[in-house]
Amino acid sequence: MVYDYQIRVTPQQAYCEQTIAEFIAKEKGLDARTLKGVRVLRKSIDARQRVIYINLSVRVYVNEMPPEDMYSPIEYHDVSEKKTVVVVGAGPAGLFASLRLIEQGLRPVVVERGKDVHERKKDIALISRTHKVDAESNYCFGEGGAGAYSDGKLYTRSKKRGNIGKILTVFCQHGASQSILSDVHPHIGTDRLPKVIENIRHTILRSGGEVHFNTKMTSLQIVGDMVTGIKAVNTITGKETEYSGPVILATGHSARDVYRYLHGSSIEIQQKGIAVGVRLEHPSELIDRIQYHNKNGRGRYLPAAEYSFVTQVGGRGVYSFCMCPGGFVIPATTGPRQIVVNGMSPSNRGTKWSNSGMVVEVRPEDISHFGLSYEKDSPLSMMELQEHLESTCWQQGNMRQTAPAQRMADFVNNRLSYDLPDSSYSPGLISSPLHFWMPSFVSDRLKEGFKAFGKKSHGFLTNDAVLIAIETRTSSPVRITRDVETLQHVRLKGLFPCGEGAGYAGGIVSAAVDGERCAEMCSAYLS
Ligand SMILES: Cc1cc2nc3c(=O)[nH]c(=O)nc-3n(C[C@H](O)[C@H](O)[C@H](O)COP(=O)(O)OP(=O)(O)OC[C@H]3O[C@@H](n4cnc5c(N)ncnc54)[C@H](O)[C@@H]3O)c2cc1C
Repeated sequence: MVYDYQIRVTPQQAYCEQTIAEFIAKEKGLDARTLKGVRVLRKSIDARQRVIYINLSVRVYVNEMPPEDMYSPIEYHDVSEKKTVVVVGAGPAGLFASLRLIEQGLRPVVVERGKDVHERKKDIALISRTHKVDAESNYCFGEGGAGAYSDGKLYTRSKKRGNIGKILTVFCQHGASQSILSDVHPHIGTDRLPKVIENIRHTILRSGGEVHFNTKMTSLQIVGDMVTGIKAVNTITGKETEYSGPVILATGHSARDVYRYLHGSSIEIQQKGIAVGVRLEHPSELIDRIQYHNKNGRGRYLPAAEYSFVTQVGGRGVYSFCMCPGGFVIPATTGPRQIVVNGMSPSNRGTKWSNSGMVVEVRPEDISHFGLSYEKDSPLSMMELQEHLESTCWQQGNMRQTAPAQRMADFVNNRLSYDLPDSSYSPGLISSPLHFWMPSFVSDRLKEGFKAFGKKSHGFLTNDAVLIAIETRTSSPVRITRDVETLQHVRLKGLFPCGEGAGYAGGIVSAAVDGERCAEMCSAYLS
């Protein structure tokens, strides 16, 4: 017999399936010996009050064994003789587009400018060690895209577009823990993501698809109003190759050369609003104490605490973004002479720091507030603003990856920090008056935002926290305009702008969902 229950338990009772089974047997008057297994269907933490509870939806198996997997795996058939689709970019959008193409009986040929997910690790380590940035292999470029060395948070605010459950299932099928199917805030962790990504590649190859690393798309092949393939160059040998077929363009928000190529070739793109700010890093103990209302922190049974803040200052949103409890701040730059920071965390979220992006919404019409003489209506203006801010930050950081930083209360009170707290940012920090050199459009709003967040959460606004500059790559600065029905470019048939870089997704899951949708529309186009 199988029973479903909704229960509210303490963190200790929710610790594992054994402790949950013990609780249910007692609570429901069941003979513990007949309980053959318990599976958690939904799990969320209720930390609103002083006593923390875990809400669980559980399935209990009495006198019968539970299934091994809580999902039905997808079958990927051989597509080696089928029609080819070129997928540019092996981030979440490109990888999930490829898997969906296989399901649709099409053969993906994936072209990725960076290295495979394991080789990429070496270049990422060099950024911290030598401050050298490989423009083709870094935290944003390479197999797995920007999602590979990330927190691997798998929640999205968008519930409308596509089947999020399907995306989680595919992650599980490729090696992610099944807990992501039940957690309200699922995440995989940067230590586990590379294996999952490698397994996805094996599925593509086993099914007859192709994956080409170190291969950068340089242009589209266009006949009349139709895209028929791409030209690409091997970034190591310089050899040029052409790949034919309709194109799913999933190159992410940092492929500035792609945006410049599209604009230069009169292929329609639009400027898009972004968000700009800093990474804010607290000791994770402090966040645990605040969020769990307990001076002893999270104790043994609770995970590192999360937070989320949002307010409006001067008509613009100020909010926390991509919070990484128990994580690291990392150099997410894609080229020399720029500093960009971001955050990630391992599966156990076990470091002694918790960070989040703290950002201010910037719209295209705000560009005049940044003292720049860009053409207001140029589709590239927001990207150029990002470039300007990242380059300014690099100059403030001693022209290395050493990030300018300031203690939080010092920033709010316009004081230089004489020293800085211990930080997870491994290239190192340099004390800098962010209140002085960051554009006031951003810094003034951040200050007001921090004051508001400090009022909501006592202890949050503190000099134990540090601001690390600069966070600019929160979303794409450009939208590659596409038809809402067919998902093809507004003018060019056979071109499917896809994922975050096209301006239609933000985050791993929404990029994956968009990848699937583009694959489906590509299949419809070919049939
Ligand atoms: C450090 C970090 C942490 C993050 N943490 C999270 C998180 O926890 N949860 C979450 O939901 N989101 C997170 N994000 C955001 C998330 O990673 C992105 O939203 C997501 O990866 C976008 O997917 P995508 O496939 O559209 O683009 P990308 O992941 O950016 O992939 C684009 C790919 O295209 C390749 N490419 C670019 N140009 C070319 C070219 N000319 N030819 C061939 N290949 C090319 C790139 O090398 C890259 O691999 C994080 C991002 C970063 C940087």
